[in-house]
Amino acid sequence: EVASINPTPVTPHSVLKQTFGYHEFRDGQLAVIEAALSGQDSLVLLPTGGGKSLCYQVPALVMSGLTVVVSPLISLMQDQVAQLQALGIAAEFINNSVQRDEQQIIYQRLHQGEIKLLYVAPEKILQYEFLERLQHLPIALFAIDEAHCVSHWGHDFRPHYCQLQRLKHEFPRVPMMALTATADTATRRDIVQQLGLVQPFIHTGSFDRPNIRYTIEEKFKPMAQLMRYLRSQQGQSGIIYCTSRKRVDEVAEKLAEAGFNVAAYHAGLTNEARHMVQTGFARDDIHIVVATVAFGMGINKPNVRFVLHYDIPKSIEGYYQETGRAGRDGLAAEAILYYDPADIGRVRRFFEDIEDEQRRRVEEQRFAAMASFAEAQTCRRQILLNYFSEYQRHPCGNCDICLNPPKRFDGTLVAQQALSCVYRAEQRFGFGYIVEILRGANTSRIRDNLHHQLSTYGIGKEHSSEFWLSVLRQLVHLGLLEQDITQGAALRLTEAARSVLRSEYALQLAEPRLQAVHVYEDKLA
Ligand code: ADP
Ligand code: ZN
Repeated sequence: EVASINPTPVTPHSVLKQTFGYHEFRDGQLAVIEAALSGQDSLVLLPTGGGKSLCYQVPALVMSGLTVVVSPLISLMQDQVAQLQALGIAAEFINNSVQRDEQQIIYQRLHQGEIKLLYVAPEKILQYEFLERLQHLPIALFAIDEAHCVSHWGHDFRPHYCQLQRLKHEFPRVPMMALTATADTATRRDIVQQLGLVQPFIHTGSFDRPNIRYTIEEKFKPMAQLMRYLRSQQGQSGIIYCTSRKRVDEVAEKLAEAGFNVAAYHAGLTNEARHMVQTGFARDDIHIVVATVAFGMGINKPNVRFVLHYDIPKSIEGYYQETGRAGRDGLAAEAILYYDPADIGRVRRFFEDIEDEQRRRVEEQRFAAMASFAEAQTCRRQILLNYFSEYQRHPCGNCDICLNPPKRFDGTLVAQQALSCVYRAEQRFGFGYIVEILRGANTSRIRDNLHHQLSTYGIGKEHSSEFWLSVLRQLVHLGLLEQDITQGAALRLTEAARSVLRSEYALQLAEPRLQAVHVYEDKLA
């Protein structure tokens, strides 16, 4: 064999194997990488752990020039850069924690073309001086990690992210890749718009986490329920989320008194204390962390066996992110939510303090979706995935509803009545109003809209308002209706609704339970 004089060309596959040591790309990664290589913008929607980083790290090493990664969390940035450096990749980060003289060294190396991947905090990249420097560098790609931070509709809005659209103005020819694990449609639309992505290639991975069992338990005596559950866990790793710092401290204290290996974590603790909890948990020195949502971003612990919400989260996105920290290793894990209908009112009152009117309405809508998830009688996973537009016709078999089902009936007829009512009212109205039409309510609003003349007016008189509300909610959960939170929560038919309207299959609905029932058997009983 003759030794080749030319080095083997650098391809996505050669980088994957030689630099990262992996054998094949995961579903979608190669398509995203190729889009970047061909200069196309892209939007990558993959759940946490789905392999987003590789989508821009591989092109960064295949292309000549510099890839700039915008990332909101200093700790994440440091971890990633350390990992890349350990693989022999020329990666650096710049944020406000980096000293001036260190920054100077990095700038020098940038100008000498010695750095392939530069991680930058959003506030840094937007500084005039920094943008100036970038203008003089051969930039191959911008990667915007945690891109949902640009969205007002998202769960983690950051004002600096909004200004990232300047990058497109200043560097119109540089492809931009936006990545996020948040997948609701409003946020998705916002990312494309806010960042100014041009005809982006969009990859949506599955958001299903089949090894996580979702359970919603009615909250009676939460401390007692919690202790019983934790005893059954026998020292497994887990996170307990509470909504307030005060509650975190209370719960942690009581658990510690009862002899559990537990620590509290919230933003009110010193950096040092928080760091100790994080590392202790990572090393399995601490078994249980009681925390606010401040705990989690950047936690990459594979063997978290359970995530328990002591209080109802404020949105389905948040719930999904938090529960997603369980079972990263792919082994069986549990997500448990303690639900007390009275908490709904408490959270709602909290929103009243939000001054920005639009912001408040969005928060309320997002919470309404969460509340209706908690009250639902439908497979939990179906609701979650349909909420993220990942249509699921079949129940999952691994949630409390599937394992311990409520009573069901053939809901085809009432579903058709409800769907055609939404349709005939031009898909411009929310739950309450549709129920009024179905029940034939005599209101001035209905008369003004001439909706008393609709064929569906009063078609469902014989059922209660609660019944219809439950049916409509279930249709949303089943992915047959969707709610546009940007349009006053108007209900709209989805593509999937057609087959129900055409009676292509018998639709099973759950009988409404007007009072929440403790559906899940006590596991220890
Ligand atoms: P995300 O940023 O989407 O949360 P990461 O990029 O951190 O996910 O990837 C999660 C894990 O999967 C990492 O350990 C990463 O190295 C690994 N991974 C990513 N792509 C592949 C692949 N093609 N083959 C094997 N492992 C991969
Ligand atoms: Zn299920």
